Amino acid sequence: MSTDVTEAAAEPAEAAPEVRPPSLSPSRASDFMTCPLLYRFRVIDRLPERPSPAATRGTMVHAVLERLFDLPAVERVPAQAHAMIAPEWERLLEAEPELAALFDDDEGRDEWLTSAAGLLDSYFALEDPTLLEPAERELFVECDLDSGLRLRGYVDRLDQAPDGALRVVDYKTGRAPREGFEAKAMFQMRFYALVLWRLRGEVPRLLQLLYLGSGEVLRYEPDEADLRATERKVLALWDAIALATERGDWRPSPSKLCDWCDHQALCPAFGGTPPELPVLPVPAVPQARAGDERPSPHTPRDEV
Ligand code: SF4
Repeated sequence: MSTDVTEAAAEPAEAAPEVRPPSLSPSRASDFMTCPLLYRFRVIDRLPERPSPAATRGTMVHAVLERLFDLPAVERVPAQAHAMIAPEWERLLEAEPELAALFDDDEGRDEWLTSAAGLLDSYFALEDPTLLEPAERELFVECDLDSGLRLRGYVDRLDQAPDGALRVVDYKTGRAPREGFEAKAMFQMRFYALVLWRLRGEVPRLLQLLYLGSGEVLRYEPDEADLRATERKVLALWDAIALATERGDWRPSPSKLCDWCDHQALCPAFGGTPPELPVLPVPAVPQARAGDERPSPHTPRDEV
């Protein structure tokens, strides 16, 4: 979730590899806003990260909530969702066998699985999926801004009212932000709303974050002015990323999120030294890879 950071200006020759425009996802935008050095470690150095129980549980709960809507409406009940946890865990284990090392023993794993069931119970307290028929789930969205920057990401769920109005829904397995921090949490949703507006020509009517960790819902009704402001913010962010890339200036920005950062040993804020920057083709523009638009499976989903 190599350094495919090329951005060529010339027409590609017939045999040349495909040239993609620079791109940005909400997760990586959030990385840069949180800590430019973290962005560098993830996007430019491509440093591996260890899986964590919280991030893996987030991935698993999201998968259950996606597949829940495969069931007939009347079967979308807590018992069915609970029954889907073990198969999802097996699926994750099969894809990444090293996840087995997350737990010291079966008891620790079972406690963790029980905590995932608790998050699903919290979901059912927030809405009734028997009354919903989502238009889309895990929807990949992508659009190119006039500047050439490509925005991309995955929307957890898209609902469409009979009158065509769109509601963008995202699940968070953490707690809702404290008062005053809602706007930061809503940035990702505005980002998606901007992409959907560009793609469909219609501003989504409602953006909705479901916080399963605290059983709260954050809602926001965007308008065109909001989304234009979001576009300006994204472009300013991209300018800052391009400048940091040009100067090789990736500063650490310590915060409470450092507790979850896998790269403390390489971070000057913790006495470490970052590796040499890889040599980038010119002009060098960091570019998202397939999968970058998803929150890192090794980072708490709610923090990215
Ligand atoms: S430890 Fe903190 S300051 Fe250092 S790279 Fe990670 S998030 Fe940034």
